[in-house]
Amino acid sequence: MNYEQVKVRIEELRKIIEENNEAYYVFDAPKITDFEYDELYRELKKLEEEYPELITDNSPTQKVGDKVAQGFKELKHKYRLYSLDNSNNYDDLKKWYERTKKEYPNEPDLDLVVELKIDGLSCALSYENGELKIGATRGNGIVGENITQNIKAIKTIPQKLSKPINLEVRGEVYMPVSSFERLNEENIAKGQKEFANPRNAAAGSLRQLDSNITAQRDLHFFAYTAISEDKELFKTHYDALKLLEELGFETNLNYALVKGVDPIIEKCEYWGQERFNLNYATDGMVIKVNELAKQNELGFTSRAPKWATAFKFPPEEVWTKLEGIELSVGKTGAITPVALLTPVQLAGTIVKRASLHNFDEIQRLGINIGNEVLIKKAAEIIPKVIRKKENEDFGTYLTPSECPDCHSPVTKPDGEVVLYCTNTLGCPSQIKGRIEYWASKEAMDIDGVGESIVEKLYNEGLIKDFADLYNLTIEDFMQLDLIKEKSADNLFNAIQASKTPSMTKFLTALSIKHIGKETADLIANEFPTLEAIQNATIEDLIKIDGIGDKAAKSIVDFFNNENNKMILSKLAEYGVNPQGSAFEKVSNIFEGKTFVITGTLSQPRNIFEEKIKKYGGKVSGSVSKKTSYVLAGENPGSKFDKASALGVIILTERDFDALSEENNNEERI
Ligand code: NAD
Repeated sequence: MNYEQVKVRIEELRKIIEENNEAYYVFDAPKITDFEYDELYRELKKLEEEYPELITDNSPTQKVGDKVAQGFKELKHKYRLYSLDNSNNYDDLKKWYERTKKEYPNEPDLDLVVELKIDGLSCALSYENGELKIGATRGNGIVGENITQNIKAIKTIPQKLSKPINLEVRGEVYMPVSSFERLNEENIAKGQKEFANPRNAAAGSLRQLDSNITAQRDLHFFAYTAISEDKELFKTHYDALKLLEELGFETNLNYALVKGVDPIIEKCEYWGQERFNLNYATDGMVIKVNELAKQNELGFTSRAPKWATAFKFPPEEVWTKLEGIELSVGKTGAITPVALLTPVQLAGTIVKRASLHNFDEIQRLGINIGNEVLIKKAAEIIPKVIRKKENEDFGTYLTPSECPDCHSPVTKPDGEVVLYCTNTLGCPSQIKGRIEYWASKEAMDIDGVGESIVEKLYNEGLIKDFADLYNLTIEDFMQLDLIKEKSADNLFNAIQASKTPSMTKFLTALSIKHIGKETADLIANEFPTLEAIQNATIEDLIKIDGIGDKAAKSIVDFFNNENNKMILSKLAEYGVNPQGSAFEKVSNIFEGKTFVITGTLSQPRNIFEEKIKKYGGKVSGSVSKKTSYVLAGENPGSKFDKASALGVIILTERDFDALSEENNNEERI
């Protein structure tokens, strides 16, 4: 680029960035992804660094945020608010550290606090004599929007502190991901606009002219900075965080005090993956010099502190082209559409496929092959399609009228969104799906019997259902291409070794519609023999807490079906013999109590499940009025919200231990 071209490009970038600033900060409705924005911003910054004479005071690189939206009262901040400089690679992060450390050549590695960068809306709260007086948005850092009433509507923000001090508290107002998803579902049902992400939902909910609307939204606040004129109150950022906790604020507890830059990189690596398991959005890590005296010495640029920086995670959302839609038919006949994409980097992996859920979802998205689509990485392993590019019309992909494999008609049962192939007995995809599932880890856990072996055995006509697996000989396996004697032996032995499964595994493995592992477990606990289950009526089954009409009917239909009866008698003939409930009861203290587990606990969930069952309780996968307790770990999901709404008792791990302990003691007395 020659000098004139650079000038033109700089102007062009400033214009695009300003337009997007307005959409994002003023209207809470971004038009491009944060990643795309950051790329434009970095390009501008780089050009301005190369040609510093072209920097102007009103360039977006010299300012914070944007103007105050119409309808809000302006508020001049007592202490100026800044943005953060950021990088998206460890080299830049190390350079920031080296630059900062250079100021203290005679000192060992600097103390740094590393914390999550919460993707919400920055707010400043002013307390006088311990009372909340003012709440404001950051705005352009000098003037923000006065949103005191709305801030007061957020229940987790203390209105009165436990100490009568003057303090400015800064932090991020955010909406939990589960609440954001629920709000969008409600908005879709009411025909209202959807929010692009939890950050925009939080900003849109907080920046309401009517604080009653804010009060109805599930907003929270993570405090991350305190400013006080009393220099004795805290001398480090770490101590300020501790004080905020003491004063009753919610802080994000995933912070750490470390020395030097290496542990910071470890934390960035760790949270870059773990972030998808959190119930709030985070777009990076913030690294701050711990000592306030040093922060004061290091100071600020016109836009950001020099004593802090942010590391931005790879994007969670990215645009790519929808190249095709693959239809797969599962073991129950469910036909699932999967998006085939132009391969693209997303959150550290190359993504080629994304979930489309079902055909109603395709209709809702209005997408077709050829569209540019935004895909997002969430907690699930496979990313999902969020939306298509505006003004791009390729029509909408047609819902199929026949099974893509066996061409039989399809059906969509009332009240369900899933489309099913009707050829339950004859559809090769369904049959192979059921055999694969029978052998899978979740079901009978037969080592080595996966998709390709099942495909070969089926195509060779050696098996027609999962019972036939037990009639195979070593020679049968040896007939298959690529199977050497050793693996034929192993496969044969693995199948034979699976002949005495627990009743839960056996029931799960049968691929009965609506019966997953948890439901199978509830049934196995009540009916210890296969005969008892076969004879159970719908009425008997719905008496079990956690079993609804659909599941009960599905069980009864399954055992009345002639083909299934034939498979079951073959299994019996080949010596497959399910064993009764795997859990020996050691006490009855949880008799009649149903538990639901959510969130991350200190030990794997099955340890808690076993304990509950050993004490006579039941574990269910979903919360209902019948649930006795919800055991909630870190970052609980929507089950927690539902339990709160229904007034179900919520136990922390410590409560759970105390409850087991208490009841066992009573029992002993
Ligand atoms: P920023 O979000 O990159 O970083 C600064 C902000 O981080 C602070 O103001 C604070 O609110 C927040 N923060 C979160 N956790 C924090 C913590 N633990 N400690 C300190 N601060 C914390 O900067 P910005 O100026 O608010 O916004 C710029 C960013 O916003 C861009 O990089 C882009 O990602 C996004 N943006 C996107 C668009 C778009 O159109 N998509 C437009 C404008 C801005």
